[in-house]
Amino acid sequence: MALARAVETEVLVVGAGPAGSGAALSLARSGVQSLVIDRAHFPRDKVCGDGLPPRAVAALRRVGLEAALRERGYRPVEHCRIVGTGGGHLLTDLAPRDCFPGYSYVVPRRELDHVLVTAARAAGAEVWEGVQGLGLLDGDGAPVVEAVDGAGTTLHLRAQVVIVADGSRGSFSRRVLPKEHLQAGGVAIRLYMEGVHETGALSFFLDRRLLPGYGWVFPGGAAGLPANVGVGMEARALRAGKVGLRSLLRWFVGPGSLAWPYLSRARAVSEPAAFPLQFSYRRGLRRSGRLLFAGDAANLVSPLSGEGVAYALESGEEAARAAVGALRSGDMCRLAAYDRAVRRLLAADYLGAYLLRRALVHPTVNNAVVGLLRRDREMARGGVGILTNTVSPLHLLHPGVWVRMLSPHRVVSMLRNG
Ligand SMILES: Cc1cc2nc3c(=O)[nH]c(=O)nc-3n(C[C@H](O)[C@H](O)[C@H](O)COP(=O)(O)OP(=O)(O)OC[C@H]3O[C@@H](n4cnc5c(N)ncnc54)[C@H](O)[C@@H]3O)c2cc1C
Repeated sequence: MALARAVETEVLVVGAGPAGSGAALSLARSGVQSLVIDRAHFPRDKVCGDGLPPRAVAALRRVGLEAALRERGYRPVEHCRIVGTGGGHLLTDLAPRDCFPGYSYVVPRRELDHVLVTAARAAGAEVWEGVQGLGLLDGDGAPVVEAVDGAGTTLHLRAQVVIVADGSRGSFSRRVLPKEHLQAGGVAIRLYMEGVHETGALSFFLDRRLLPGYGWVFPGGAAGLPANVGVGMEARALRAGKVGLRSLLRWFVGPGSLAWPYLSRARAVSEPAAFPLQFSYRRGLRRSGRLLFAGDAANLVSPLSGEGVAYALESGEEAARAAVGALRSGDMCRLAAYDRAVRRLLAADYLGAYLLRRALVHPTVNNAVVGLLRRDREMARGGVGILTNTVSPLHLLHPGVWVRMLSPHRVVSMLRNG
């Protein structure tokens, strides 16, 4: 039997998507040795809507990578559209807030993830492509990950800390975590289309048939790129309705859907592709001993919008910060700082987003919300801020918001004009 090749590193990162390469970039810039393995070779595709909301843009800006997108020809998308179940349109600009810019980008993941991996490498991280993490070997202290490279060589990768960033239902997580942490709460499907009418906005469509999910049409983010069109849905609802996601997508790009005015002349230029979404924060695990889980692997996907790139970048950054703290002090208990950081960053917003989703799946509620928001520019920007994770849904608990939203003249105008 061939002997396994043994390798030692300070931090091993499994998966080089936004969470993993974001973590590796931060580690390298802090002077910590890291080895990243990914089973794919970059540039590689990843099924996604490709929308980078302002929160993701802010995270990329923090690590100096927004300029790399502009150099590649990507242009800001400054508007967002929500079409309620009854057909009411809300179109608003994205307001800058705190450290979040007032725009998004749409960048195919083939490109975005390559930019991140290249930056991590340039900063000093070692990245091994075509290497798959298989599981953990038994042992005390520093974890040892078993992996296999493209030539079939077995690797034993020993690290002081392992950051697991292998995505939704990642094949490494499936080996090391109990099943209950890995259930896909949702699933989404996308396809690229040319000839979409306009739009210059990230558009979300709350078609009755898609509730409790939604459909989207995102413009190509650079000249000549096709639009990204897709549908996301709760896994439970799909099972209960016994509908296939592909047939929902076919319906969504057809004449019966709210998106038809934008798609009537469009034609598909790719096959549809689907991927699971793990968005149950409660079920997700952020840390187990010296293993830190980041991004989709930690169920950090917005339960309202299904967006996860911003959370992947932020959690990767926080996991790296906790690893650096533990390694510098020699005290592995300091890895617990990661749980606290994620909770502080996301837990309350998650709960708010979850409750909001439960409310908006009712056509009457989402029609009323769209109707009220379109009458007040500031409120519209706030509502879209909640959808794109730059405004906490807990903001809705502020009585002033309701006083403004339900002021008598606004309600009367809504009842009169629909
Ligand atoms: C259809 C769809 C549309 C979406 N649209 C959006 C959107 O518009 N905006 C947004 O913000 N989010 C969107 N999301 C969510 C977003 O795609 C994820 O949240 C994001 O990719 C999470 O990044 P990550 O780094 O955690 O995982 P990933 O991007 O999935 O990266 C995981 C990496 O791990 C590697 N890997 C897996 N297993 C192993 C292994 N055993 N060993 C080594 N490597 C491994 C994979 O090759 C991959 O490179 C969408 C998701 C879907 C399914």
